[in-house]
Amino acid sequence: MLPVVALVGRPNVGKSTLFNRLTRTRDALVADFPGLTRDRKYGQANYEGYQFIVIDTGGIQGDEQGIDLHMAKQSLQAVDEADIVLFLVDARDGITAADLSIAEHLRRQQKDIWVVANKVDGLDADAAAADFYELGLGEVYHIAAAHGRGVNQLLNRTLEPL
Ligand code: GDP
Ligand code: MG
Repeated sequence: MLPVVALVGRPNVGKSTLFNRLTRTRDALVADFPGLTRDRKYGQANYEGYQFIVIDTGGIQGDEQGIDLHMAKQSLQAVDEADIVLFLVDARDGITAADLSIAEHLRRQQKDIWVVANKVDGLDADAAAADFYELGLGEVYHIAAAHGRGVNQLLNRTLEPL
């Protein structure tokens, strides 16, 4: 059985960009418009020697109704199915209310959760990531999913122990 990695976080933080990089497909919809990936999407990743299943999700805001509620349920389902949860946040935005409400939910799960600050290209990555320790979920990794920076180290740390 391959390990299962779920990508969760609010819309527009770069989940689908990371999914595409890991699976090397353009299948997951990537766009400037939040919320395009409405359902869970599964891909097989074969990245730098690591093989795993990755689940892309539409994103959670924390106060959903209607189609957004459907998306949020899909995200929570992905968390249930996963061995590892990568909680993506946007290093440019800092912590948002939605991040806090997702963190609150994730803290209650019996899962290995890793905070991943994305979009650190052009930023002081360590400083940008440091803000997110306030989420109270432990170690914060930083990546630039669009460029691949940090992805290898992230996988080394999160998948190696499995
Ligand atoms: P999702 O809603 O979480 O799936 O986010 P997407 O993957 O669709 O990305 C949302 C936006 O962020 C798109 O415009 C991406 O090009 C952009 N983006 C994703 N990763 C990075 C990154 O590492 N750096 C920068 N600067 N932008 C990124
Ligand atoms: Mg997406």
